[in-house]
Amino acid sequence: MTIKSYNEERFSVITENVKVINERIHEAALKSGRSYEDISLLAVTKTVDSVFINHALDNCGINLIGENRVQEFLSKKDELHLENKEVHLIGHLQTNKVKQIVEHVNMIESVDSVRLAKEISKECIKINKEMDILVEVNVGMENSKFGIDSVLLGEFLGEIGEIPNIHVKGLMAIPPICETSLEVKRFFSNMYKMFLDIRAKKLDNINMHTLSMGMSGDYVEAIEEGATEVRVGSSLFGKRVY
Ligand SMILES: *Cc1c(COP(=O)(O)O)cnc(C)c1O
Repeated sequence: MTIKSYNEERFSVITENVKVINERIHEAALKSGRSYEDISLLAVTKTVDSVFINHALDNCGINLIGENRVQEFLSKKDELHLENKEVHLIGHLQTNKVKQIVEHVNMIESVDSVRLAKEISKECIKINKEMDILVEVNVGMENSKFGIDSVLLGEFLGEIGEIPNIHVKGLMAIPPICETSLEVKRFFSNMYKMFLDIRAKKLDNINMHTLSMGMSGDYVEAIEEGATEVRVGSSLFGKRVY
């Protein structure tokens, strides 16, 4: 196949995938007593070439993308059609990379330490920017995963609520790999409970607007359990090639 026809083929697959994902979001939203507009679809663009990301941005109604790695995003960003679009950082962020990324993203979803929150604050102050963040919760208490322990979340929010130029807008989670829908839904529903509990406390500078959870394999379950944002990669762009 020529490169042109390969690209055309993949463009139409992406278009179709976005249509299907939107339909499933619609149904899941209705099932949880909400509407399609209450749910944001974040397209996860790690390893995806700019030309396919631009197709999703230009032609498929995608308004929000998420990248995992600072270096990868910086190398692609000049080619991306990002006017009036939003970019979130969703991968683990090392403090020494903060300086390079803050000016280029609208939100950092993976804040999991006071040290990181302070570094984001420091770099944002330098460029006079206010940064929205989500707190990543290690909902399955897995050693292999990043995120704040659920039991320490209240204390953590108390500490970072005071830090200037950052604004907590909600929570993010990646639950453990589960065998069944029922199993993964338990983790999502625990997240939703925390989200509501914190919201009810009305803490200073802590806003519970976004609950980011659910990926290609389980975004329907996540929405049914209360997600307001789902992060979908492989079901949208196709299988990742590393
Ligand atoms: C890769 C990734 C996703 C998307 O995963 P898919 O299963 O491909 O949809 C979502 N969230 C985070 C944090 C990721 O790293």
